[in-house]
Amino acid sequence: MEKKFLESMEKKLIAQKSSILSELISSNEDLREAYGNGEPGDLADIAGDDIERQLLEARGLAEVKKLKSIEAALIRIKQGRYGICVKCGKPIPKDRMEALPHTVMCFECKTADERRNH
Ligand SMILES: [Zn+2]
Repeated sequence: MEKKFLESMEKKLIAQKSSILSELISSNEDLREAYGNGEPGDLADIAGDDIERQLLEARGLAEVKKLKSIEAALIRIKQGRYGICVKCGKPIPKDRMEALPHTVMCFECKTADERRNH
């Protein structure tokens, strides 16, 4: 994986994460009190069970899942395993990652995974 591509994906992921979190903070009074005075850049460092629970209440499961995949993708970038499917270990096509930067599974595994969860 090219360094430039990874860097641009990392930027996209951090931006997505910050926008989910800042939306959450602006819609939730408790979180606004706790984090509202921080710099926007600090949002990328916020994580943990508390946020997750609040997010679940405020925004629903879909956003929590997305936030989790964004975090998982960021971790995989750091580990140098971003772009490799977590299930089958095959490379994920670049155009899929550009469309869905937080994806950690190839299309086949994601489809199979979704089918199992329904
Ligand atoms: Zn796969």
